[in-house]
Amino acid sequence: MGQGLSCGSSHEHGLFSAVQFGELVTVRTLLERDPNLLHQTTVYDRQSAFHIAAANGQIEILSMLLDRSVSPDLLNRHKQTPLMLAAMHGKISCVQKLLQAGANILMFDSLHGRTCLHYAAYYGHADCLQAILSAAHSSPVAVSWGFARFVNIRDGRGATPLHLAARQRRPDCVHILLDNGALVCASTGGYGFPGSTPLHLAARGGSLDCIRKLLAWGADRLQRDASGRIPYLVALKNKHGACAALLDPSSAEPLVWPSPLKFISELNQEAKVLLEQALMEANREREKNILKGTTYLLPSPSHSDDAVDDNISEASDTGLCCICFDQVCTIEVQDCGHQMCAQCTLALCCHNKPNPTTACLTAPVCPFCRSSIARLVVAKIKTDNDADIDIGDISSSKLRRSRRFRNCSEGSSSFKGLSAVNSFGKMGGRGSGRISAESEWVDKP
Ligand SMILES: [Zn+2]
Ligand SMILES: [Zn+2]
Repeated sequence: MGQGLSCGSSHEHGLFSAVQFGELVTVRTLLERDPNLLHQTTVYDRQSAFHIAAANGQIEILSMLLDRSVSPDLLNRHKQTPLMLAAMHGKISCVQKLLQAGANILMFDSLHGRTCLHYAAYYGHADCLQAILSAAHSSPVAVSWGFARFVNIRDGRGATPLHLAARQRRPDCVHILLDNGALVCASTGGYGFPGSTPLHLAARGGSLDCIRKLLAWGADRLQRDASGRIPYLVALKNKHGACAALLDPSSAEPLVWPSPLKFISELNQEAKVLLEQALMEANREREKNILKGTTYLLPSPSHSDDAVDDNISEASDTGLCCICFDQVCTIEVQDCGHQMCAQCTLALCCHNKPNPTTACLTAPVCPFCRSSIARLVVAKIKTDNDADIDIGDISSSKLRRSRRFRNCSEGSSSFKGLSAVNSFGKMGGRGSGRISAESEWVDKP
């Protein structure tokens, strides 16, 4: 052993750089020559070849190491697993491969007691975050811990992945987490002690998009942190004026996603995207009024909004909403088959504020026939050749639509386009570039 040390370390060095740069043949040759290299680690951080492959997205090498039955849960000096490093660096193919290989998603590092889910949220890799959450549904974690508990898992300082995503200005991660049951009012304090909510941390980070999403999911503007401050004061202190204007308890309340409604929690993906988009648009309209009197100018709306508007005006001849006569019908009420636009649907569902103690909403009924709403689906505009709608056909297709296309699963091309541009993932670009120093996220008085 002793005499092999110098020789071994040069092999090691060769191995680690070959792994880092994806030199598969070299790595294979080195490992065939000395299989023990698999268990070697770097001197200081004790990274294995496995960690280096995951952090650098070297999927072929990672797969080869897994084939050689290396445990996917090796630990480095900071008790980080290869999965954590892949999630940190946004190496989605490695994340997926590790999850398939059964990597444990419930490991905590020794730096801040964080899991792979914290890493994905903190560094803003929405694809990795989504992959880990999907895996959590089917993994043993879901059985032993429960999925909801995993989504709201706390790090060493009490922060959930939602706290980290809000602090680091990652609106797309905030959205995914909320969508998967992250508690919007979770406090870092725990055990009855006050702490910061995701809204406090978003106020500190200064991301309007994160604040919008948290408010739209029912975040409380009046909750106080350990220093007794509401998020509004945190935003003011950090000189995020526009954020403060939205967080000001005296400004108009935003519409809140009516999640307690049964047919809202059962929405299919397509209908959900449409309604969520309508919610964010309605709230942006409110924001304009809030910010009108202030000196804060909002960045111009993202391009996806313009595209949506264009699509709607193009299609508007084919079936105007009979409530507002402004938007095209995109949502169908089942079982009655009546249709209206997403904005009106949302206004109907958000009409009553949920009772804060029971989180109960009075379920709305169909505004046309007063029958109860079993489901909301995306309304389909069907044409014979699935091409642009012939003007001559409009009246007949309009008459037929409400009955005939109730359970139709294939969308018209215009609606597929609509839901594609509406994708929330595309809204996350703004302001997510800079990563603050690790110690900055906790808000200090
Ligand atoms: Zn309408
Ligand atoms: Zn009806």
